[in-house]
Amino acid sequence: MRAALKTLIVLALGTAALLWFVNLDGAVDIRAGAWAITLNLPVALAALLVVVAVLLIFVLLYGALTRLPRRMRTRQAERDRAEGEHAVTRVLVSLAAGRGDVARGEVGRARRLLGDTPQLLLLTAEAARLDGDERGARAAFEALAEREECRFLGLRGLLRQAVADEDWDRARSLAAELAKTEPQAAWVREERAQLALRTENWREALELAGKGGPRAQLAFAAARQEADPEAALKLEQEAVRADVGFAPAALSLAQRLRKAGHPKRARALLAESYGKSPNPEVAAALLEPVADAAARLRLVEDFTRSAVRHPESRLIRARACLDAGQADRARQELLAAMADGSADRRHVALLAEADPDNAARWHAEAATAADAPGWRCAHCGATYAEWHPRCASCGTVGEIHWSAAARGGAEVQAAA
Ligand SMILES: [Zn+2]
Repeated sequence: MRAALKTLIVLALGTAALLWFVNLDGAVDIRAGAWAITLNLPVALAALLVVVAVLLIFVLLYGALTRLPRRMRTRQAERDRAEGEHAVTRVLVSLAAGRGDVARGEVGRARRLLGDTPQLLLLTAEAARLDGDERGARAAFEALAEREECRFLGLRGLLRQAVADEDWDRARSLAAELAKTEPQAAWVREERAQLALRTENWREALELAGKGGPRAQLAFAAARQEADPEAALKLEQEAVRADVGFAPAALSLAQRLRKAGHPKRARALLAESYGKSPNPEVAAALLEPVADAAARLRLVEDFTRSAVRHPESRLIRARACLDAGQADRARQELLAAMADGSADRRHVALLAEADPDNAARWHAEAATAADAPGWRCAHCGATYAEWHPRCASCGTVGEIHWSAAARGGAEVQAAA
């Protein structure tokens, strides 16, 4: 009802306006030189309206025609983007499904549609790797590495390839580049640390090792690689600071101190090392400058005080007692180790010497006694005659420790 009323009002107003327009009184003269025309006002206004309308239509048509190619290009680009995104999805699905060949086809299509974006270069490399084409992957990683904003991604891929190829020189230079690109990245640090361990670059491995790393072992391994004696000394000092109980470093540093005319400092260092981790080689180094049996026994009593009940201490004291003519005390020491179950083959064998009346019994028991402590890989159990930074059996670094034999356990004997 209201709509009908509105229409009626509009029609009435329109008719009134038209009547008013047609009945307008007046004329328009148009003169050009001798030529002249006179139009009455409604006709002139109608003609003007027609001219304006024609001009307007022409302008609109012209605009639409000039915008047409750009609009077509935009539509094509939108279609390409949509198709390209579908192709990217198919690449991701193919990669997840382990279909390298399909992924490569789709990624080629996506690159044609979307161009060489960093994401597509990365997917190209991953697809090529999955398809076994390392050369293609390398080309894509190199293209990534050339772009400032995604240099890290390219270098990272190239480093992974170099490590897989065991091309250590290239891997090292790529890792150095990566460290420059992203100095704070934890991944770079971890990768460089792994690389240093694999290439036995112990100094770098030490620099990159965290606080929980085998610092004493790495520092001592680096000292052994060092040609400059001053630098080697500093590294050994670092090793001893990290773990004074690590016997190889303590022994080597003590030897340097003795050579440099500091026997007391050498003795103090060895005694501290023994107290932390009783080791027969450290004890032997402490006793080396002393020849007299009574003086040796006094020295032994002194440095074993910090680990008085340790089986190594009991063995060393028993030996010193025997040498000083105190067989009874020697026997007590060894029997105490037997009683608490910490004795090994060496204790039983020495007991045969300290207790000659029962020598046959002790010799028989020595055959079944536990093995002496030694250098053992905590990771795989391989044993070594001397310490090494890396286990030749399992490849682990910093896991060879001085330790007692696992009683009753099978042992792996690795080539030293
Ligand atoms: Zn091992």
